Amino acid sequence: MEANFFNKETNSHNISHAYLFECKDSNKSHKLVDSFIKKILCTSKAKKNSFCDECKSCNSFNVNSNPDFLQISPDDKDKIGIGSLRGDFDKNRGINSVLNETSLISKAKVIKINCAEKLNEEAQNYLLKILEEPPKNSHIIMLSSRPYRLEKTILSRLIRIKIQNSESQKEFKGIKIDPIFSEILKREYDLDSISDKEFNSLSNLFNETIESLDNFNYSKNGILDTWNDDNLNFRLNVLKQEIFKSLSGSYKKTNHQYSLITSTLSQERLFLLLEEIISFQAFLANKIPINKKVQLDSVFDLI
Ligand SMILES: [Zn+2]
Repeated sequence: MEANFFNKETNSHNISHAYLFECKDSNKSHKLVDSFIKKILCTSKAKKNSFCDECKSCNSFNVNSNPDFLQISPDDKDKIGIGSLRGDFDKNRGINSVLNETSLISKAKVIKINCAEKLNEEAQNYLLKILEEPPKNSHIIMLSSRPYRLEKTILSRLIRIKIQNSESQKEFKGIKIDPIFSEILKREYDLDSISDKEFNSLSNLFNETIESLDNFNYSKNGILDTWNDDNLNFRLNVLKQEIFKSLSGSYKKTNHQYSLITSTLSQERLFLLLEEIISFQAFLANKIPINKKVQLDSVFDLI
């Protein structure tokens, strides 16, 4: 689907005013998205399915000076605040001034927002107003590896396209999935009989669990409150797989899209944690009556 999307002809009738590319912040993703943006901006009619790389618009895009294009990335604090969107800091002209002007050298105007999950609440509200009444001939292109962090009101206004990283993703019924999720599915479920509904709810559960283990979000109390439910074993499996991954050192190699608390622990600590989880899971499997919250507490004491 991804290949079809990027290879097809674009014209004013088939381009939406707002997209979300779900992808890692990788060179591959940026290359694909930038080529899509160039295609939108290109003024040449010579090539239907691509950009010309010769017109003024393409040339200026290549040297990062296309006046009809604005790129916004997280600031020094790794956030995107409203100031970055409004252009308060003289770093850029601001979204509104680009979008509300007539395009200068290109066919349209494009705003690209990198790591969009880092938009803070105020910035998301600001953006939502623009998405609700998009100026003519303008496109907002967002990239995010964690789209579930964006407000639902924003998500509902975006066309979502997934860009997969082929080296680290596996497939389930033609859908590419995170390798850790894939590992858990293979171990714990009969993949031939799993329904789409069940798959989707596990996929949501996986994302939710990963998010709670995210360095940035991590809160022991939060975990004690939310993990202690019917999905406890699944969540422990996610944690266990993440530990295996940290132990094998594959975090560094694969340039993982999220940074989890497990990736900062020493090897010794990871082994202790693993032992604790394995005995916890043995209790659960054997239905030994234990206080799950106390047990969880002692597991996360190791972090
Ligand atoms: Zn061109």
